Amino acid sequence: MPPIDLSKVPPRPVTRFAPSPTGYLHLGHVANAVWTWGIAGALGGRVLLRIEDHDRGRCRPEYERAIIEDLEWLGLVPGGERRVLRQSDHDRAYGRAALHLGRQSPVYACKCSRADIAQAMRADGLEDWDELRYPGTCRGLRLAPADGLGLRVTLGDEAVEFDDLRLGPQQQTPSLQCGDLLLRDANANWTYQLCVAVDDTRQAVSLVVRGEDLLASTGRQIMLAGRLGRKEPPLFLHHPLITDSEGRKLSKRDGSTGVRELRAAGNRPEMVLGEAASRTGLIAEPRPIAAGELGTLFR
Ligand code: GLU
Repeated sequence: MPPIDLSKVPPRPVTRFAPSPTGYLHLGHVANAVWTWGIAGALGGRVLLRIEDHDRGRCRPEYERAIIEDLEWLGLVPGGERRVLRQSDHDRAYGRAALHLGRQSPVYACKCSRADIAQAMRADGLEDWDELRYPGTCRGLRLAPADGLGLRVTLGDEAVEFDDLRLGPQQQTPSLQCGDLLLRDANANWTYQLCVAVDDTRQAVSLVVRGEDLLASTGRQIMLAGRLGRKEPPLFLHHPLITDSEGRKLSKRDGSTGVRELRAAGNRPEMVLGEAASRTGLIAEPRPIAAGELGTLFR
């Protein structure tokens, strides 16, 4: 594993644990919690608990309750004035942000579905591209914003550079990766990218610790935050993911690693934290680690 350079992080960083309540916590989330609470603990920082329920169609209150209860069982205590921050409470902030973005570069209504974008990519020979890249179909159409239409912001072609605390210097060009960003989807949900850029700014998050699967999102979030007036973006650390026996990222459907299942099978919280630490390379062999000890993994 490359060395982790925490010397650049100012003391007492504010970071966050930001699960989407679309399922129960599994060992992949625990790994993220181990890294997040561990680094915060080592640097005297705090972890905000942010429930990312921006996609109202997929989120359920029972998952949120289960997430909070599983974190308590693991002994992971969030900091911050409010115990839980919830994206569904911040609708107006996202609306204001979209207006603000629209004053700097065109924000336009878009009728394209994911299938439309995939089809356009196939037509352009881009079927092997890493992610969906919006080709700009509706850019000049001047569609009136309406129910059932998305909302996109025009991106420039500039590259974004940042230094990942674990992976080193990165350069990303959002316009090439994903094209004009979707801010609100056709079901009137504000999107992940907008909500995260707004929340990390408003909540003064100074350090983002998350899995490598989100590395590609970082440049666009830095870009949005800059346009929203953030002077210094947060620092970022993307940690290794836990994969299954076929090398795939764990998913919520993978029941055997669910925190609830691990609990029901008689595992102690310390064993579950130790397993997540070892499977992301923090310790060579699993051993019990209490939540309060996680900082020692990073000192
Ligand atoms: N809500 C996202 C997830 O559950 C995490 C977002 C982030 O850390 O930026 O995958």
